[in-house]
Amino acid sequence: MMKPVILTGDRPSGPLHLGHYVGSLANRVHYQQQGWTQYIIIADVQALTDNYEHPHKVHDNVFEVACDYLAVGLDPAQTTFFIQSQVPEIADLTIYYLNLVTVNRLRRNPTVKTEIEQKGFRDSIPAGFFVYPVSQAADITCVKATTVPVGEDQLPMIEQTNEIVRTFNRIYKKEVLTEVRAIVPEVSRLVGIDGKTKMSKSLGNAIYLSDSADVVAQKVKSMYTDPSHIKVSDPGQVEGNTVFTYLDVFDTRKDEVVELKGGLGDMVLKKRLTEVLNNFLDPIRTRRAVFYNDKASVMEILKKGTLVTREVAANTVQEVKDVMYLNY
Ligand code: ATP
Ligand code: MG
Repeated sequence: MMKPVILTGDRPSGPLHLGHYVGSLANRVHYQQQGWTQYIIIADVQALTDNYEHPHKVHDNVFEVACDYLAVGLDPAQTTFFIQSQVPEIADLTIYYLNLVTVNRLRRNPTVKTEIEQKGFRDSIPAGFFVYPVSQAADITCVKATTVPVGEDQLPMIEQTNEIVRTFNRIYKKEVLTEVRAIVPEVSRLVGIDGKTKMSKSLGNAIYLSDSADVVAQKVKSMYTDPSHIKVSDPGQVEGNTVFTYLDVFDTRKDEVVELKGGLGDMVLKKRLTEVLNNFLDPIRTRRAVFYNDKASVMEILKKGTLVTREVAANTVQEVKDVMYLNY
């Protein structure tokens, strides 16, 4: 079997948090260790579709996100990082693919539907936002990715991409584009420190990889726990206790966590979690600081990866244009 070609990435609308680590960064490190070809897109163009009035924010977060990647152990010698806006071939492909998709089909995309509601766009949906699944198909196909790791909510995007791939190959009578397979990571969403919803930048309930030890301590202190479990003697509830949710994920001494569930005061548990999280984050923070203080090198890494990606993408665009008779 051929080795997978992975395409994955993030929108640079803020630094990355523990939810990103659990949901995607850890897997990317794993794919890298497997020796698979991996492209990581920093999707600034996509970030602009709902941040177009805040271009500075998107610009600055490209560097932040790159520092997060490097800090968790993604290695530019093995993984190719690129900035979406600097690969104009993606824009080329998007324009061609738009002919192959109907407005009704886009409207039915469940992910887009939900996001339109969440963002309150109503009757003023920016066209760029509306068609971002098509540009995602361009991201994926420009490097001929075979495999895309996604959360369950992103599965409709892969379906949309494969529809475009099949339609393209059928109409232009050549297997130019490659269908992709989704990998859905086993880990479910990490809950936020409020214990109510998933950890998310926009919900203000995140612990960032770049948070200092003090900030982590403070955030753990404010965590939602079982209100009836103050004293050691209280029976306490494990189910839905955010501190335990995090201990289950990040505490490597699993047998001790099981014992703790027998009953302990909130303060003791929170102290332990603070320690566990800071032990986990310390090496990430140390590496991050090194990259953060050497912005030139980080931007150079992105530039190099972008050049590599452009070369591959230019080949794809050439093949696409050839079968579309756009070769003069
Ligand atoms: P925003 O608030 O802007 O939506 P976010 O913090 O929710 O930002 P996204 O950019 O929406 O982060 O997430 C990108 C990807 O990161 C998701 O598709 C998912 O794979 C992963 N991810 C984000 N948050 C979590 C989480 N809490 N648990 C697991 N995975 C997550
Ligand atoms: Mg989100």
